[in-house]
Amino acid sequence: MKPESIKTLDDVAKIPFTVKTDLRDNYPLGILAVPPHRLYCLHASSGTTGKPIVVAYTRRDLECWTRLMGRTFDVAGVRKGDIVQNMYGYGLFTGGLGFHYGARAVGATVVPSSVGNTKRQLMLMKDLRSTVAACTPSYMVYLCEASRAEGYSPRTDFVLKIGLFGAEPWSEEARKRIEDTFGLRAHDCFGMSELYGPGVAIECDQRNGLHVWGDEFLVETINPDTGEVLEPGSEGELVFTMLSREAMPLLRYRTRDLSRVFEEECACGRYHSRIQRIKGRSDDMLIIGGVNIFPSQVEHVLMNVRGLGDQYQIVVSHEELDRLAVKVEAPQGRLNDFELLKKVQTDLFATLGIRTRVELVEEGSLPRLEGKAKRVVDLRPKE
Ligand code: ADP
Ligand code: ZN
Repeated sequence: MKPESIKTLDDVAKIPFTVKTDLRDNYPLGILAVPPHRLYCLHASSGTTGKPIVVAYTRRDLECWTRLMGRTFDVAGVRKGDIVQNMYGYGLFTGGLGFHYGARAVGATVVPSSVGNTKRQLMLMKDLRSTVAACTPSYMVYLCEASRAEGYSPRTDFVLKIGLFGAEPWSEEARKRIEDTFGLRAHDCFGMSELYGPGVAIECDQRNGLHVWGDEFLVETINPDTGEVLEPGSEGELVFTMLSREAMPLLRYRTRDLSRVFEEECACGRYHSRIQRIKGRSDDMLIIGGVNIFPSQVEHVLMNVRGLGDQYQIVVSHEELDRLAVKVEAPQGRLNDFELLKKVQTDLFATLGIRTRVELVEEGSLPRLEGKAKRVVDLRPKE
């Protein structure tokens, strides 16, 4: 294939896909499109499975990323004078520095508090009068509980107005819990290391999907099984082509993330297409006795049952058949509440279509993670 082979948008479908293993197989820097001395910085993805993926940026790439992050902050309403408490991890993970660059691009004041040390995080949030919180949604849900446990009244002690949450799937119920607790407006942000990092897509004030920065990313949806390109509006795997990246210009990169693309103009007036909030990755989909289940469906059910805590864990095991168990925290007085247990079980069955063993566990007993939450424990033997 030659550059001349691509004359119209339809020709893009002739380009073969790039997949995660192409990057892994060329670890660390086997697919650079520029000589190494032109690299300005390197990051690496968390690499939950196997070797990390190293991503490279030229100076221009870094400027482009910063500009996209700046726009992302702008869409969410962050301005000069805002105080951004950036609780994404600083380091190889693109979240920390990505949000840092975005805050600087709009002229806001950035507090690089990074992940962890929750007590200090809350103290700074109050004393520095942070107006914007940026972190993983699971950590913000944890801060709802932690701030009360530390004796704060979240709505009066803090002055947060805007939240920028992403890097993992989260439910509308989690959004409601965060907004009700802190009285802020929560925006979903989407990105991935291979596509610069965060700042690929952001919800505007309409919050009817996330605008993808169309001047930098060409977005398609495909059938994950056949690779066939789908019409806008149908659910499929997101595939991105970067339009100006220098160091690692990925073409038709398969994300494994499931969503839909909407091309109609948004009521906010922006023409950048929108993607629906991500339901999950096709690879975090659990197949339990032949039934497809996304952890986000479990969260959706749990957050709608009154009387439960915020933390949960999904345990999959195999005893003759695949078994699904959900551990969810509940307050002391309700640990033996059979009605509550029954309600969770019935609601999970209604949504998932399979039986689940539910266990109410003491508040504080499940692991809290500061970066991306890890909700699933799969004990099934690997073949
Ligand atoms: P890793 O692939 O190692 O987790 P990244 O930090 O680059 O590294 O993660 C990118 C992935 O995170 C995306 O492909 C997507 O699955 C998930 N993700 C990022 N932002 C969101 C979001 N707003 N909603 C749902 N999932 C998200
Ligand atoms: Zn919009």
